Amino acid sequence: MKVSVVKETAPGERRVALVPEAVVKLRTAGLEVLVESGAGDGAWLTDDSYAEAGASVVSRAEALSADVVLMVGKPDAAAVAAFRPGQVVIGLLSPLTDPDLTRSLAEAGVTALSMDMIPRTLPRAQPMDALSSQANIAGYKAAIIAAAEFGRFFPLLITAAGTARPAKVLVLGTGVAGLQAIGTARRLGALVSAYDVRPETKTEAESVGATFIELTGVGAASGAGGYARALTDDERLAQQQELAGHIARHDVVITTAQVPGRRPPLLVTEDALKSMAPGSVIVDMGASALGGNVAGSVPGKNVVTENGVTIIGAAGLPSSMPAAASAMYARNVSALLLHLVSDGALALDSEDELQAAVTITRDGAIVQPSLSDAGPSPAGPEEGVARVPGAAR
Ligand code: NAD
Repeated sequence: MKVSVVKETAPGERRVALVPEAVVKLRTAGLEVLVESGAGDGAWLTDDSYAEAGASVVSRAEALSADVVLMVGKPDAAAVAAFRPGQVVIGLLSPLTDPDLTRSLAEAGVTALSMDMIPRTLPRAQPMDALSSQANIAGYKAAIIAAAEFGRFFPLLITAAGTARPAKVLVLGTGVAGLQAIGTARRLGALVSAYDVRPETKTEAESVGATFIELTGVGAASGAGGYARALTDDERLAQQQELAGHIARHDVVITTAQVPGRRPPLLVTEDALKSMAPGSVIVDMGASALGGNVAGSVPGKNVVTENGVTIIGAAGLPSSMPAAASAMYARNVSALLLHLVSDGALALDSEDELQAAVTITRDGAIVQPSLSDAGPSPAGPEEGVARVPGAAR
């Protein structure tokens, strides 16, 4: 059975779905691996390194015709047009935010498996959890870019030229990315506080070195599957107002808050921004075209407010660390692929809970029930915009 890796086509995307170590693993399992020439360029992985690992380096057309086609992101329109019925396509296909792609994959007759639909709480699916692996990288990089943009030190420094006090960093949202941001900011020497609307994250945040902030005006908002639920309007207002006081006391704020199926909640309002000292830095990991966690953030851009606060609209953070992100993604996607293979051939089983969750199209139809209500909505802030948790990162 031929498994291929194609070169990513999304602008700025530098990751690749398999690294040479993963090629060796798949070949040991009896699979033939094809790699599109140049697929690893963005992550400094040469065609030769794939060939040495036992892959055949091939043209794009040949890679697109393999039995199983692996990618990190989504296939472009030309790739979808090249697919033939019965092929298997695996990637972060964002089916909840891109229903058109899902429909076109169904029309192409391919079996599409989306890495962002992995059931994350299923223990055997954990090695396949690409959302967590990529969120870890994003959280780390968010702390690094905050430190790089901040015009002062993160650690306490005592020198002959004076003493620098440690930076005060606030992390809002302590899921996978937030916990990694806390740990990284702590390792850089900052004093870190953290807040999440799920109180059960308190011990996790404390275990990586943060002081957990508890708001008096907002209760627990834990939702299904370990995620947060959306807040009511009253809760949201109370949260924004109470958070503003904490935000004003910090030099750096890193926001990671997400609610599945919703726009990212607005946590840092314009008033909160006005209360921050000049030179403060905010990294908004929720920044998106629909709005982010911070008023006025723009994805992929730095915005400086009138009072001198820099808001970094963090976009594509995992792709900015392509070697690490590709190595982790390769482990995730190989684990899924090996789960689907028996004796060197695909053995798909729609009764398997894990496979049923990740399979979005098969035999010309959309087969994942949760996709029936997917699609953009004209509703107001934080309302009804389908999102795969973590996919935007
Ligand atoms: P996420 O990206 O959906 O959200 C990030 C964080 O934002 C979450 O902690 C959420 O509670 C928080 N948040 C949402 N709205 C908020 C608001 N208004 N104010 C403050 N914070 C808000 O989450 P994620 O990091 O992808 O995962 C969240 C959780 O899912 C994990 O912490 C874990 O409990 C669970 N999870 C479990 C497994 C597993 O069991 N193997 C794997 C991955 C994740």
